Amino acid sequence: MSLLELSEVDSYYGQSHILRDVTMDVEEGEICALLGRNGAGKTTTLRSISGARPPEVRDGSVTFKGEDITDLSPEDISSRGISLVPEERRVFPNLTVAENLHLAEVTNNASNTVGRTIPEVEHAGMTTDQVYEEFPRLDERRTQQAGTLSGGEQQMLAIARALKQSTDLLLLDEPYEGLAPQIIADVEDAIERISESGTTILLVEQNAVAAMDIADRCYVVDQGSIVFEGSAAELRQDDETRERYLGV
Ligand code: ATP
Repeated sequence: MSLLELSEVDSYYGQSHILRDVTMDVEEGEICALLGRNGAGKTTTLRSISGARPPEVRDGSVTFKGEDITDLSPEDISSRGISLVPEERRVFPNLTVAENLHLAEVTNNASNTVGRTIPEVEHAGMTTDQVYEEFPRLDERRTQQAGTLSGGEQQMLAIARALKQSTDLLLLDEPYEGLAPQIIADVEDAIERISESGTTILLVEQNAVAAMDIADRCYVVDQGSIVFEGSAAELRQDDETRERYLGV
């Protein structure tokens, strides 16, 4: 059994049929990349997994740790150990790094306790000390306003905020977007460290070259359908798929 399984998922925005028969597996412990051009359906796939609506999943199923989560709310899905870092890197620009991390803890606890008894909320994410150990750049900038951090540092803060909740599967939506190559390398290092510490990662990227650097396995999506599945090494060797669907 894989950690995450999508089976023949069809997702819609109103009448628009976007994901068609999407089947993919994410194995425990791996870094899996979902690659594709602009508008291919990458974010729609992550939203279909995380329970964010829209889109509406009208057919197929999403299974996590063997449980069908297709129709669960985002809060219930997140309480089972799936964290999403959306494309727009949600940090509070006027608050400091430390305040952003503190708020993540408070809001995670609040959303995890809705409708539950306290003993069910034993799931604890990273402590603030662990976050600072994992992300030394954030440690150096505890008192700096988040809005004044560089793009890469804001990405790290957004990831750190997600990890404040207990996370078995981290979904990253275009973490390299808008970042310079040197900064991409720093974010790559952070993602690899998180992976080594035991968190499974599903990474969605347009920057296929950077994603292939760290991914164990890759899927390519085009017009809402999976058109390639294989190891990063196989994708590197598959010139036709790369050129046709990824333009690299
Ligand atoms: P990008 O890299 O540009 O974010 P993507 O691969 O993540 O691309 P999606 O955001 O999943 O692409 O979009 C897939 C398709 O769904 C696109 O045609 C897009 O216009 C459409 N779409 C996305 N969000 C909505 C929405 N809320 N309502 C209607 N259509 C949408």
